[in-house]
Parts: sequence; C-alpha cells; structure tokens
Amino acid sequence: MQNDSLTGLLTFEDFLSQAGVEICDKSKAYMIAAADITDFHFINVNHGYDVGDDVLRDAADFIRDCLPNMICACRSHSDHFLMLISVQDTEYERVMNETQRLKERVKEMIGRRASDISPNINVGLYFVEPGEENVVAAVDKANVARRTNKGSYNIPCVVYSEHLMDIKENSAKILPIFDDSFRKESIRVYLQPKISSETKKIIGAEALSRLVDDEGNIIPPARFIAALEQTGRIIELDFYVLSYICRLIRKWINEGIEPITISFNLSRMHFFSSTVVEDIIKLAEEHNVPPQYLEIEVTESVFFEAQEMIVAKVQQLRDYGFKVSVDDFGSGYSSLSLIGVLPVDVVKLDKSFVKESLKSPRSGDLMKGLIRILNEIQLEIVCEGVETPEEEKMVNEYGCSEVQGYLYDKPIPTDEFESKYIK
Ligand code: C2E
Ligand code: CA
Ligand code: CA
Repeated sequence: MQNDSLTGLLTFEDFLSQAGVEICDKSKAYMIAAADITDFHFINVNHGYDVGDDVLRDAADFIRDCLPNMICACRSHSDHFLMLISVQDTEYERVMNETQRLKERVKEMIGRRASDISPNINVGLYFVEPGEENVVAAVDKANVARRTNKGSYNIPCVVYSEHLMDIKENSAKILPIFDDSFRKESIRVYLQPKISSETKKIIGAEALSRLVDDEGNIIPPARFIAALEQTGRIIELDFYVLSYICRLIRKWINEGIEPITISFNLSRMHFFSSTVVEDIIKLAEEHNVPPQYLEIEVTESVFFEAQEMIVAKVQQLRDYGFKVSVDDFGSGYSSLSLIGVLPVDVVKLDKSFVKESLKSPRSGDLMKGLIRILNEIQLEIVCEGVETPEEEKMVNEYGCSEVQGYLYDKPIPTDEFESKYIK
C-alpha cells in the first residue's frame, strides 16, 4: 500500500482497491463520503503553498483521528478527499447533524491557519447498496452529491439519489447551450419592474437572464444557474448581463431619456476574484454609465463566509457610487446583526416572507417588526414576490412601499419593457 506523501492518507488507487474489497462484505453497511474545500486555491494564492499544505495535513489528521467509524481514506487529488465509513443507520437527520458538527470543526481548524478565508467544505454522501461491487461507480455517485453541495451554504451535505444523476445530466445538456448562446450573444436579458406602491410609478428594474434552446424554448434560471455556478461560468453570465444593461442605459441616455436604475445579480464566486471591483467599474466606464444607474444584488448567504473580504469589496463598489442590495434576505439563516455590518443601501425581502405572513399572524408580526427596524436604520426595502393586491396592501401597512412581483409584471423582454415603461 502506498501513501500520499503530503497527508499520509492512502493514494487514490489504493483507496479504490481497499474500499473495493470492503464493500463486497454483504454483512456490513457502508457510506462513501467525498469532500472538498471551496476555493482552496485562494488559500494557496493568499497565504502561500506552505499554509495550503498545512491545511491539507490538518484535514487529513482530522479524517484519520476524529471521524467515527472510518475504514479508509485518501486524498484523491488537490483538496479532494474520499472516505469509506461503516454505518449503523442511514437516518437522514442524524447524518446531517453529525456532518454539520464535523464540518464546523474542520472550518474552525482552517480558520486558525487562514483567518480571512473561512471556506466552506462540500460534502457528498453515498450509501453503498448492499452487495454493490463497483467501487468506482460508488465513488462517482458520492462525487455527484459533493458537487451538488457546492454553493449551498446552509446545507451540511448532499446525499446521493437518482434524482441527482438527472441534475448531472441536465448540466451536461445546459453547458453546450450556454456556450453557444454566449458566443452568439443570444442570451436573453429580461427586466422586471420595481414599483412604488405610493405613486404606482416604476422606480427601477431587475435584470434576469434566460437561455433559449435549439427549438426556441426559453430555459429558466432554475435550470441553468446551478450548473453555471458549479463550473464557474456564472462569472461570464453575470458580466454578460452587466454589459447588456450598460448598453441599454447608455442608449437611453443618448436618446435623452432619464434612465431608471437597473439591478443585476452578482454571484458569490466573483468575490474570490481579486479584480472584481475594477472589472465592474471598467465595464461601467467603458459604456460611460454613471454608477447610480447600476445596482448590484448580492445574495444574503454570500455574507456568511469570508465576511471581512466581501464587506471590503462591497464597500469599494459603494464608494464608487453603485447601489448595493442584499438579495433574498430572510431565506436562510439571516440575522439582524448581519444587517448592522453590511455596507448596503437596499434590503430585498425574500418572497417567502410575503407568503408566510399571510399564513400565520406570528410571521406577519415578524415581517412587520423587521420592516420597522430596517426603516429605522434608513435602509431602502423592496418586497419581492408580491402577487396580489392583498399582499401589496399588507406590506404597505407594514411600512414597505417598494414592491417587485407578478402583481405588476413578470420579468419581460427588454423591448416589451421599453415600450411599457420607458417610452
Ligand atoms: P432572484 O434574484 O431572487 O430574482 C427574482 C426571481 O423571483 C425571478 O425568478 C422572478 O421571476 C421571480 N419573481 C418575481 N416576482 C415574483 C412573484 O410575484 N412570484 C413568484 N413566485 N416569483 C416571482 P427567475 O427570473 O426565475 O430567477 C431565479 C433566480 O435565478 C434569481 O432569483 C437569481 O437568483 C437567479 N438569476 C437569474 N438570472 C441571473 C443572472 O444573470 N445571474 C445570476 N448570478 N443569477 C441569476
Ligand atoms: Ca436578485
Ligand atoms: Ca431575490
């Protein structure tokens, strides 16, 4: 048996042969866990390879010494680890809680080496079918689950199911469509208005992207965002959308029209690029678009990791004059203390608030209290997902007068948007 010289864990080949023998034992139950460290290369880049190596050795020590029921483990490559674990039961909630606890310990360990990074650990689990003999296929399934866990900050791990295979197949279909549309510049950018309930006038719009397949069918973001995030291509999409709206705003200015502010979604991945702030400013300057006409939407969950680094970049964007909003506020583990430290102008309350508030008086009180506090600290508030006049009336009574939702309009193509709202 050979060992990985850096970590002392097995090599990938030896792991496969050892695990391959183990899982043939039908009297026992096993799970394969695949794990990797998000954005590990930033540890190498920001702190040097020695620190990167220390982190990998810490992780290996943890796997060897602290993982209950571990049978064998390897570092398959870079920051990717595989473990064969014997299991007594497959009770979902227990596995989730246990994984969460273990992950917290590893994150704390990494934090001691590289305090400004605090990366996430992605974990995928596959419960080996009794008598399954194909260890390579089993490892592949754990890896499919691991990749699905990427970017989900409040899900401790993903357990493999056949459904995930569908997602993987979907990615394989989506990526060529994205490549093709990107090259041909045929990605659609739709706009959804944000309306003031008081004046019934438009106060802004959000840009949302759509892909189109060969047959001309519109593919919604729910079917492509995850695949683009997993492959890093989301960065290209977001810049595509940004340059599209910059051209649109410039066109309006040239035509003598006072532009509205248009927001776009900036995926978390951008924040790990050292040039993200310059890149955004450069695009706005190239199109000669004053920054007050652009608003950057950053999802709430982004702020849970690497807070200092992200807060600093967001601050630079605001200092330049862009508006910044926290998107989907209330959809995850939001906290009020987070709002206190975020350098943002706007809070976009997630659509779940509106729906829950109508269902239960307590949720309604919560939303009302939240809006009161946000108003007190003078943040602009937008309620998303307002679909009916009753919902609008409710959020108005709670103190929020800016709404985005199907009540006024869905996201619509730009030409339709222009004829309805601009001209
Ligand atoms: P989001 O940023 O929260 O955008 C709002 C989503 O809510 C949009 O879905 C919009 O169509 C939907 N929506 C608006 N009003 C209502 C309503 O009254 N009821 C309901 N049920 N839904 C409403 P869409 O366009 O499907 O986009 C989904 C998500 O995909 C977006 O959520 C955003 O996170 C992501 N996304 C879309 N385009 C881009 C993009 O270009 N870049 C990035 N990074 N993410 C994008
Ligand atoms: Ca958004
Ligand atoms: Ca949102």
